[in-house]
Amino acid sequence: MDGLDVIVGEIAAEMAAAAERGKVADYIPDLASVSPRHFGIAVIMADGTCHVAGDADLAFSIQSITKVFTLTMALGAVGDALWKRVGREPSGSAFNSIVQLETEHGIPRNPFINAGAIVVADVLLARHQPGEVIAEFLRFMRTLAGDESIVIDHEVAQGEQRTGFRNMALANYMRAFGNVHHPTENTLGIYFHQCALAMSCRQLAQAGRFLMNGGRNPETGRSVVSAQRARRILALMLSCGHYDGSGEFAYRVGLPGKSGVGGGILAIAPGVASIAVWSPGLNERGNSQLGTLALERLVQRTGWSVFEPVVQCGV
Ligand code: GLU
Repeated sequence: MDGLDVIVGEIAAEMAAAAERGKVADYIPDLASVSPRHFGIAVIMADGTCHVAGDADLAFSIQSITKVFTLTMALGAVGDALWKRVGREPSGSAFNSIVQLETEHGIPRNPFINAGAIVVADVLLARHQPGEVIAEFLRFMRTLAGDESIVIDHEVAQGEQRTGFRNMALANYMRAFGNVHHPTENTLGIYFHQCALAMSCRQLAQAGRFLMNGGRNPETGRSVVSAQRARRILALMLSCGHYDGSGEFAYRVGLPGKSGVGGGILAIAPGVASIAVWSPGLNERGNSQLGTLALERLVQRTGWSVFEPVVQCGV
């Protein structure tokens, strides 16, 4: 067993014993019944080795973590023109807040709050049918993860379609400002289905490898995005990836990360590792309570941080 196997095993054991596990999101019907006892971790290193512990192979609803991948697709489709419709600043508000949209003329603060991700979904819809976009998204995720077994949980999507009144309000409000171009049921259809993607920690860490690897999928050798775009996506993850808890996550973990209300977090140590953790109980800001703690312990024990001195900057 190598040192990292020992570390992830220890962390999983510590998380299994944790008393304070947070509260499972209950506003999406199918998420309410997930047990807060789960914890999984997967660490994939730049050389391809994989270190897992706990429920690392159990699929869960990755929810807002998909926003990283739809952003990647939208940037591929329209490039920097995206930034005319979505900002790049932390919102300081809850993930589903509507308040800033009024004063900011229907332009969401960033692509990782719900309003921003709905605009990104609308961008993907240009010249396509919703079903095509969802199929393309699923293909993209399977290719990135190198795993054809990944699926969308349609019950989760339907549950959100039935109860997602706030997201409907956001989409309609932005349509009134002209920043959603398609019928809102189509745009939201994409958004709800992307959020309902089910992946395990191992699959999610695999899908994140291109971000650790300068934009290139290490398995296929193909460039997914340029190195510059990968850096910029990571910058957004660091500044906006944890809703209004992004500053706290940067302080405690020091890595770009994106969380979802299903309790997952994808974190990237550039050039070193792609890491996924999952524990369904959330803290008061809607981020995985034990997922955050596990990442904090991982970086303490490995020394991984984007705030470590740059020893080889190539100049
Ligand atoms: N589908 C969820 C919603 O829109 C995603 C929220 C999240 O993971 O932040 O409410």
